[in-house]
Order: sequence, then structure tokens, then C-alpha cells
Amino acid sequence: MQSAEARRWLAGQLAAAGIDEADYESCLLLKAVGVSALDLRTAPHQQLRPEQREQLSHWLKRRQQREPLQYILGEAWFYGLRLQVSPAVLIPRPETEELVEKALPHLPPGARVADIGTGSGAIALALAAQRPDLTVYATDISADALAQARANAEALGLNIQFLSGDTLEPLRPYAPFEALISNPPYIPQQNIAGLAPEVRDFEPQLALTPGPDALHFYRCFAAEAAAYLRLGGQLWLELEAPLAQQTAALFNAPLWHELQLLRDLSGHWRFLTARSGPAS
Ligand code: SAM
Ligand code: GLN
Repeated sequence: MQSAEARRWLAGQLAAAGIDEADYESCLLLKAVGVSALDLRTAPHQQLRPEQREQLSHWLKRRQQREPLQYILGEAWFYGLRLQVSPAVLIPRPETEELVEKALPHLPPGARVADIGTGSGAIALALAAQRPDLTVYATDISADALAQARANAEALGLNIQFLSGDTLEPLRPYAPFEALISNPPYIPQQNIAGLAPEVRDFEPQLALTPGPDALHFYRCFAAEAAAYLRLGGQLWLELEAPLAQQTAALFNAPLWHELQLLRDLSGHWRFLTARSGPAS
């Protein structure tokens, strides 16, 4: 089979499996076997080698089962960084890049910052890459996720202090921080069944939903995170848009002030920021 034919075949099969970006994904699959977009234009009649064809049909079968392309290829991009992703970690989302972008300008020089529930390490690694002056800590309750995050830090040559444990607990010996940042599990359990198969059937439940109480992590942050922050330190959270007002209502004086909800690029209330301590 020639490379241009392979592209049409892949795109057709992917579209028939209900995949929206079939054309784009067919190009990514070809690129992963060494046929770039430029090759497709300049040498469309190039014959694929048997092992390239085999690899492509193996990947196609997995993608037709709606396994996310990022797990199949083992990589995802976040804030310009190439991250390895296994099924132990959430595939980092574009909204979370917005969280990093919003927080960055507010982090004081030399700040000590912690990312809670780091997954692939996305937030912590982006902060460390953008701001070598920061000291970055990252936690997760999943040993497999932490192993993946550590491997990513090593591959990128970034220095993160990884800690294992439940929510804020592992940060106790290192407090106080200038900022805490988190994209915790927040999808209400009853919404899981209605999610895209890529998310519902392949991403870790532990990363998606906190269980019966959708606000579990926000209650915990509202009650306890101020004790882990310097007075006036900042909390930056991603949240479930339909629960934004309920989430914000948890963050009250005197523990919190300067509370703000922020929208994502789709216009949804997606982030919360607040400062610890009473207003000065
Ligand atoms: N920060 C990553 C990102 O934005 O791509 C991953 C976010 S994912 C929504 C939530 C992460 O929290 C998962 O990696 C999960 O393993 C972790 N997690 C779940 N329960 C936790 C807990 N009780 N304590 C710490 N981490 C937890
Ligand atoms: N925002 C992700 C999604 O919609 C879930 C991430 C999370 O629960 N924090 O699939």
C-alpha cells in the first residue's frame, strides 16, 4: 500500500468508527510510523514497508475500540512539553493549560508551589519549565501516576519533588507554600456513564471522579489548604463548570479572601482562585 492510500484508508476507517478528527488522526498515525505530512505531499506513492502496515492496522484496531490516540501512541502535549502518558494517568486537557497560564504571572519570584493530584505531571512540569526560579512539589495518591510523572520529569530534565499520599497530607512537612494548584477529580459520578467512550472506558476512574460527593476535594481545600499556605498565598483550582457557584460558596472569610471564578476559553466558569487569610 502507498502512503497516500494508507492515509485515505485510515481516515475512512476512523470516520466510520465515529471519530471526529479522522483526517488529522490518520496523519498522526502515519507520522508515528515515520511518514510525515511532508512525505505525504512529496512522495505520496511511496510504498509502506510490511512492518509499517502491520503497526498501522494494530493501532487502527485499538482506535476503533475508542482507545484514546494518546494512550496508543503513548504521548500527549501540554504547554509545549511532550509527555508520556499511560492509562494510569489522565490525558492532560487544554483547559488545564489555561489554569497554568492564568496562575503563572501571579507566582512570586522563587515561590514554592505544589500541584496536588499531578497525574502525568502536566501542571508541575509546565510550571517548572516556564519558571526555573520556582521550587515545585507534586503529589498523587496513585503510585503508577507518580511513576509516570517522575519519568516525564526525568525525560524533560526538570526538577520536581514528587510526594505520594492523600490530597494535602504529603505536603505537611514542606508547608507553607506561596501557591497551591490543582486539577482534582471533579466529574460527578452520575455523569460518568454519559461521557465519551475514550474517557469513560479508558481513563482512570480515580482521576475522573471523586465518587459520591462531587465537591469532595473542594471541601477539603476550603477547610484545610489555607493552613498549607503562607498568609496571602494563592490557591488555583480547576473545577466542574455547572458546580462553580456551589464550589465558590465553600471558600469563605476568614480563611479565604479575594475569591474569583474565572472562565475558560469556551466561556465556562472553570477555575477558582483565592488568597489565604483575612483581607489586609
Ligand atoms: N493534574 C493532572 C492533569 O491536570 O492532567 C491530573 C489531574 S486528574 C483530574 C486528578 C489526579 O488526582 C489523578 O492523577 C488522580 O490519581 C489523583 N488523585 C485522586 N484522588 C487523589 C487523592 N485523594 N489524593 C491525591 N491525588 C488524588
Ligand atoms: N476535565 C476533564 C474532563 O472533562 C476531567 C478532569 C477532572 O475531573 N479534573 O474529562
